[in-house]
Amino acid sequence: MSKPPIPRREGLLDREGWLPEARRIASPNFDQRPEEATIDLLVIHNISLPPGHFDGDAVIRLFTNRLDPGAHPYYASLVGLRVSAHFFIRRDGELIQFVSCDQRAWHAGASTWRGRSRCNDFSIGVELEGSDDHPYSDAQYERLAALSVALRRRYPLKEMVGHADIAPDRKTDPGPAFDWARARNEFNRKCAIAG
Ligand SMILES: [Zn+2]
Repeated sequence: MSKPPIPRREGLLDREGWLPEARRIASPNFDQRPEEATIDLLVIHNISLPPGHFDGDAVIRLFTNRLDPGAHPYYASLVGLRVSAHFFIRRDGELIQFVSCDQRAWHAGASTWRGRSRCNDFSIGVELEGSDDHPYSDAQYERLAALSVALRRRYPLKEMVGHADIAPDRKTDPGPAFDWARARNEFNRKCAIAG
């Protein structure tokens, strides 16, 4: 008798910090978090490549160091960049995971929040496919809320902030198009439900 397959448990990170329902595309752009890191911050970003274009695979290519610099003039500015995020939420709500949540993804760069620097050490980075001034989709808000529940089950997340909040001199994302009231309400509500 063979054992029945272990069912995928949606909404629960596995032991290695991967979410089963996310499409997994491993990025090499990560390293170890500090031993003492408490993962308590969710950082929201936006990205689209080329900027303002919401389809294609350029973001996936960037995060996996496979972007062809000749494919678009803008990409010349990205040569040599080694970046990633834990998650990428596409316009249709598709969820892609690039880095285990237990590892340190390279999404925030030089950053500070409430007196703590190096936010990558203690945060989860979520990229929304979009731009600062283009409304995000309902599917993205819904996916973000569901993702926040899964993360809250594993980590003591306390706050959700934007990249612009932790690196105000350099960054503007997720921009004025991001509806913080909607996202925070859903985040707090879902977290209350998750306990
Ligand atoms: Zn960002």
